[in-house]
Amino acid sequence: MSERQTEGFRFVEVAPQIYAAISPAQGLDITDAGLMDNFSNAGIILCGEGLVCDTCFDLPHARELLDFCREQTGHSPKYVVNTHGHWDHFWGNQVFEGSALMGHKDIVKDCASSGKKAVPLFKMIYRSKGLRGILSKLMAGQFKGHLPEGKPFQMVVELTDKDFDLTGVVPTPPTVLFEGKTVLDLGGCRVELIPLGAVHSASDTVAWLPKEKILFAGDIFADCSLPTSLPGARRWLEVLDYILDELCPVAIVPGHGEVYNLERAKSQRDYFRALVEQFEAAYTDTISQEALLDKMDLSEYLDHRPRLAWIMSVKNMFAQARKKK
Ligand SMILES: [Zn+2]
Repeated sequence: MSERQTEGFRFVEVAPQIYAAISPAQGLDITDAGLMDNFSNAGIILCGEGLVCDTCFDLPHARELLDFCREQTGHSPKYVVNTHGHWDHFWGNQVFEGSALMGHKDIVKDCASSGKKAVPLFKMIYRSKGLRGILSKLMAGQFKGHLPEGKPFQMVVELTDKDFDLTGVVPTPPTVLFEGKTVLDLGGCRVELIPLGAVHSASDTVAWLPKEKILFAGDIFADCSLPTSLPGARRWLEVLDYILDELCPVAIVPGHGEVYNLERAKSQRDYFRALVEQFEAAYTDTISQEALLDKMDLSEYLDHRPRLAWIMSVKNMFAQARKKK
């Protein structure tokens, strides 16, 4: 397996001609007091006419993906696929002029809400240290009482703007929309685009390579995955069962973080299952949020994942359950 480091990515060859473009870890102490340590990843298939899965969040990073394809194959990829419509997975689309921009028909809703209006707001936040500080404090407020002593809340938003360059971003949603499972043939490499419905976003799709048993998973797998309602967490678990028991991938390229092997992927399922089971066992219509959090203990599942992610999930699941009542 070869690896190549560029300014913005580590390109890891997960099978011949198939790469994960991994965003570097930022060195934040997420196991103690943070939510996320790296930006988004992409997948690259150089076989046949080529495919890029997700395009990251700014034009310099997207250009690195395009340059990598061109250097290796002499041409731009024919296909660009977006796993979902969150800004950090599709804002680089415009760089791939001439490629077919593909996505499930329902992701356009999410693309629109993390679209044009969000760009000036994000630029403002990332350019101003003061605003980043305020946002960080607001987020820290969410975890009051759960932050370890002396550890400030950390999120990628604390990075300086050298890591971002949102100049020129014009959110460009996919235009080649599909509804059901869609199969592409890249010079003998079969790629199945499998829509999963609303799981992490309004509409998630994974790209599955059945011969190589590699999955480009978007944010269905990520160390910072956050289910936000009990039905949502149950649905997510069903999707994890389908992926891990029926597809049985040997490598999963997650939306954020390092490439997963099957064992690491299963640990995400164990964590989600414990989250759902413990929430169901502890929740009552009269319990307070704090008492609910006190009754739950997910520490044994938090090896690689942010300690605060489960607190955020439980708060959201609690709010949804109360709303329903
Ligand atoms: Zn996402």
